Amino acid sequence: MDMAASIRLLPGTPSAHDPARATTLGVMGGGQLGRMFVHAAQQLGYRTVVLEAEADSPAAQAAHHQVRTAYLDPAGLAELVRECDAVTTEFENVPADALRELADHRPVAPAAAAVAVCQDRVAEKAHFAASGVPCAPYAVIDSETALAAVSDTLLPGILKTARLGYDGKGQVRVADRAALEAAWTDLQGVTCVLEQRLSLADELSVIVARGAAGEVVHLPVQHNLHRDGILAVTQVPAPGLDAAQVEQAVASAERIAASLDYVGVLCVEFFLLTDGSLVANEMAPRPHNSGHYSIDACDVSQFDLQVRCMTGLPLVAPRLHSPAVMLNLLGDLWFDAEGRERSPDWAAVLALPGVHLHLYGKAQARRGRKMGHLTLTGATPEAARDAALKAGALLGLEAF
Ligand code: ATP
Ligand code: MG
Repeated sequence: MDMAASIRLLPGTPSAHDPARATTLGVMGGGQLGRMFVHAAQQLGYRTVVLEAEADSPAAQAAHHQVRTAYLDPAGLAELVRECDAVTTEFENVPADALRELADHRPVAPAAAAVAVCQDRVAEKAHFAASGVPCAPYAVIDSETALAAVSDTLLPGILKTARLGYDGKGQVRVADRAALEAAWTDLQGVTCVLEQRLSLADELSVIVARGAAGEVVHLPVQHNLHRDGILAVTQVPAPGLDAAQVEQAVASAERIAASLDYVGVLCVEFFLLTDGSLVANEMAPRPHNSGHYSIDACDVSQFDLQVRCMTGLPLVAPRLHSPAVMLNLLGDLWFDAEGRERSPDWAAVLALPGVHLHLYGKAQARRGRKMGHLTLTGATPEAARDAALKAGALLGLEAF
């Protein structure tokens, strides 16, 4: 699609739009990450605009204005450009072409090229290697020949679509060659990576924020527990990590960001293997679910950092002022054992000390859908964990 022709409307050029003098910030995508970005931007006095096709999305409910079109709609992009001084994205699958188009007219962070790498597991893994950061052994499967050539050492493995996967979607665990072949056929033969299934001791993530001059800060390392491929629990400080592991994870994430010439908030997920080694899993070119605790437990949140990155404001290293545990609230909690809809007992949860309840304003609960999260802060990691276990028990969540 040639949008350059259709979007030629604007008097402004990126240089005429000094992000430091921005008054209106735009975000591509209407999900909960956009909502929390909007909250942070508004706290600093910015007007906010959300481009999202759906009505009544979490971000648009909070923003000053919604551009209600598809991501690639030329009229929608033109309106966003007219309305905003700088643009970011909250959804990693926003077409890179849309960001490229916007960048012809306004500062865009992160850049389309960096987002494109994160959108494609093949490019992402190549980028990890180029940054000197190991990842799980893998093979690219893009043809019958490549399928036949897969080494037995990658099995049992996990077949992942190269594009458009999230929350465990687009992934199949395959025990052997027959299962691999069946799974690839089921995925319609789209380009995939087959990863060796590793023996994980722990999962970690590191969120860095990098400014246009290359300055970089990071949140404390997060410890993540996934259930059914979806993040369930994040704990900070990460239990069981030694200083060298923390340092290695942070240094790896910073290298990955620097070699992408990244501007904005970037999350890198890591696996800690049972032999103590650290490998990168994947990255997200945006604030991340594992960083939501930073709103309530740090003096600067990941969303504050995103605002600062895109407007050229100073990046200061966030300080964790309270140990924290974050529990994701999936749509499953809105159904009882018989599948009847119910409303979780928020009053009981809110009676606990150190509870911060965040609900995203989604009208319809569905199983596996992220409806909100709960951050429990405490004076000590034990106190935060204790409160989280109590909250989880009240809500019917599995203990961790
Ligand atoms: P996200 O919601 O984080 O974008 P995703 O759908 O892109 O998730 P991954 O992060 O690739 O998926 O994998 C989801 C989870 O599956 C991981 O957090 C981990 O628990 C498990 N997993 C993925 N790859 C492997 C592997 N190679 N070995 C063992 N476990 C794995
Ligand atoms: Mg993941």
